[in-house]
Amino acid sequence: MKKLIEAYNSENFRKKGHKLIDEIANHFENTIQEKNSKVIHWSQPNDEHIFWKDYLENGNQENLFSTLISHSIHVHNPNYIGHQVAPIAPITALSALLNATLNNGMAVYEMGMASSTIERVITDFLCKKVGHDLDSNGILTSGGTLANLTALLSARKAITTTDVWKDGNKNKLGIMVSEDAHYCIDRAARIMGLGEDGIIKIPATIDFKMDTSLLEEYYQESLKKGIEIFAIVGSAPSTSTGIYDDLIAISKFSKEKNIWFHIDGAHGGAAIFSSKYKHTVKGLENADSVVIDGHKMMMMPALTTALLFKNGHNSHATFSQKADYLLEDSKEEDWYNLAKRTFECTKTMMSIHWFTLLKTYGEEIFDEYITTLYDLGYEFAQIIASKPNFELAVKPVSNIICFRYINENNSNDELNEINEKVRQKVLEKGEFYIVQTKLRGIHYLRLTIMNPFTTALHLNKLLGYILNELE
Ligand SMILES: *Cc1c(COP(=O)(O)O)cnc(C)c1O
Repeated sequence: MKKLIEAYNSENFRKKGHKLIDEIANHFENTIQEKNSKVIHWSQPNDEHIFWKDYLENGNQENLFSTLISHSIHVHNPNYIGHQVAPIAPITALSALLNATLNNGMAVYEMGMASSTIERVITDFLCKKVGHDLDSNGILTSGGTLANLTALLSARKAITTTDVWKDGNKNKLGIMVSEDAHYCIDRAARIMGLGEDGIIKIPATIDFKMDTSLLEEYYQESLKKGIEIFAIVGSAPSTSTGIYDDLIAISKFSKEKNIWFHIDGAHGGAAIFSSKYKHTVKGLENADSVVIDGHKMMMMPALTTALLFKNGHNSHATFSQKADYLLEDSKEEDWYNLAKRTFECTKTMMSIHWFTLLKTYGEEIFDEYITTLYDLGYEFAQIIASKPNFELAVKPVSNIICFRYINENNSNDELNEINEKVRQKVLEKGEFYIVQTKLRGIHYLRLTIMNPFTTALHLNKLLGYILNELE
């Protein structure tokens, strides 16, 4: 019992906890104010592996947390302009600590009285914000990937002529989605057994939107092959380019064909909170299901995703599988036993992050955050347009921007290599963090402006830095 007594000693916890909170507060200060200038102290995977293997044997236990901080990428640094993960609002570090402490498992009501009912408060609030009526409801789940899969399972249950959940796959089924959608849609469809033929990829227009003029043709072609299409997915926006599909046109098509309309708004669904940019998600209210990530554009710690249903009954019907030891089979839709509707059995108390932010700052904080980031996306596009050695892949409409270095003396193949190399250099030097993507054979540098403290000054500096590295 010696180790257990030591581990559960609350005075030890108090001491370590106070020290850690101080360290975290310093971390916020150092990163946001760039006192600790590097975004990442890059090391090769094999070197990092050796470091941690050695640390387990020989490292100083007292320094464990501070070493973890220094060996991680710092999303709160304004020069972090890479992937779509939020620099969390500091108060959610505290709700995350409370979540871990209480460890309420959520599967059934009594294993999370507060967090289960708060989940209803939050999802009802989000449904209303989307523009849904009282038939709507939603759940929170672990990430956009899982939420998209869950939505497609609900769609299949609601629309297809056969009951796949009960009888297995009998017919060929299919979904329609833009070729530029997030890879998790393709993965979800394969998990559901649709196979390659069942993922009808609609080509994108020159400006990376789903080409909705092709929908009828692709639909008819699939029908001829004996594929029953049950859903169409719109991206709001697509991950690689930040471009929104035409949600109104897709909605119209889905109504005509009587199929499910799902919107993957993992990244930009949060634009419903921006008075300036909510026009980007026009049509959201028509979707049968919508996904919005809390850990991307809503400043929360990973993972927490809202999945909202226009008709809440479809959410209750998704997994009608009995787990009687947990859930008494009830005719009434018991909204408070959440595992009936989520993929997860045990789930974290993710609703408390949403609630904490709303209670502390009101929904205005989401408007400020999204509007600031999207504004800077537009501003960066103007900066790029003014520089002869850089070009945009497409005019941005969000905080995701793809651009590249250009030079009239180099071929496209050479430019691909140059841009790829410079991104690797930027990563290894660690002053900035940016990512990359290949679009139609062209290698682009990709930014997602996630940090509200990033300014045009940082972005100008980045461009100068890139040119400097090229010399
Ligand atoms: C990030 C993203 C996903 C995946 O969400 P996770 O929360 O990372 O699982 C899905 N779709 C889009 C459009 C995204 O941007």
